[in-house]
Amino acid sequence: MSEKIITVFSNSNFESRRTTKYLIGRLREFGYSPVTTFHKDAELIITVGGDGAFIKTVNRTNFSDIPMIGINTGHLGFYQEVSPREIDSFLQSYHRGEYEVEKLHLIGAEIFTRNRNFFMHAVNEVVLKSQSSKVIHMNVFVDRNHLEKFSGDGMLVTTPTGSTGYNMSLKGPVIFPTIPAYALTPMAPISSHSYRSLASSIVIPGDHVVSLVPEKRYASSNVILIDGMEHNFTGLKKVNLRIADKSVNKLVVSKQNYWDNVKSRFL
Ligand code: NAP
Ligand code: MN
Repeated sequence: MSEKIITVFSNSNFESRRTTKYLIGRLREFGYSPVTTFHKDAELIITVGGDGAFIKTVNRTNFSDIPMIGINTGHLGFYQEVSPREIDSFLQSYHRGEYEVEKLHLIGAEIFTRNRNFFMHAVNEVVLKSQSSKVIHMNVFVDRNHLEKFSGDGMLVTTPTGSTGYNMSLKGPVIFPTIPAYALTPMAPISSHSYRSLASSIVIPGDHVVSLVPEKRYASSNVILIDGMEHNFTGLKKVNLRIADKSVNKLVVSKQNYWDNVKSRFL
């Protein structure tokens, strides 16, 4: 008999730990083998926490294609769809195979530096800005067409599901999760006699490539945020972005309405 392994990750707050304890007990009763570390043979990864916890799971499991679902102990969750009191009914549905899998569009970022190239994924967004908090100047290309020379705090590139995060605070568009597109949202763009930057976001078809080419002086004084985590690159030349070929499989059991979620979280 094969073990039916399920990974459970939890953030460290009290409510999450209490919920995790209950969840692990119930999983055993349903005949699963819950573990609290990444396991390549797990059939499901459950994250207990808020949206931040879900994003962390996706990143720490290296964008695994094992199906993922979240139990929400944070605020209203965009990624976290099961509430703690729905654990039993969720397990029943899951056990009976009554669920769907939604593919989350990811941003794939190819980072070119003087000496080597890196490939990274993001489930929410990628931000390029300067390390010193000074204005960053960069050339922006869409499918090799020069769009603008941007000057400002930085450039944010969001996935559809990331669009209600940092992007929304910057007045970027809310993108319905199933649309295979991404958006480029300027952060404090400067428009003056000296610099002209597009002040609005642009929405880009997922297979088109955006290139961000910072001026030379930012080659080693840049910050790239991937889902809120800081990375610094030396000799940075260019970042190419588009919707990745790879995606994350999110389990859907409740079919809660996306727009209800937007309304109750933000209005
Ligand atoms: P955090 O600084 O602890 O919290 C960021 C807030 O954004 C939390 O309330 C989080 O929800 C929420 N959030 C994250 N992803 C979201 C999404 N896709 N839609 C709606 N809300 C979302 O950081 P964190 O929890 O580790 O999350 C990292 C994310 O924070 C980044 O990817 C970025 O999107 C966001 N962020 C936002 C700003 C801003 O709005 N000014 C600045 C920096 C980072 P929970 O409370 O449920 O975790
Ligand atoms: Mn958080």
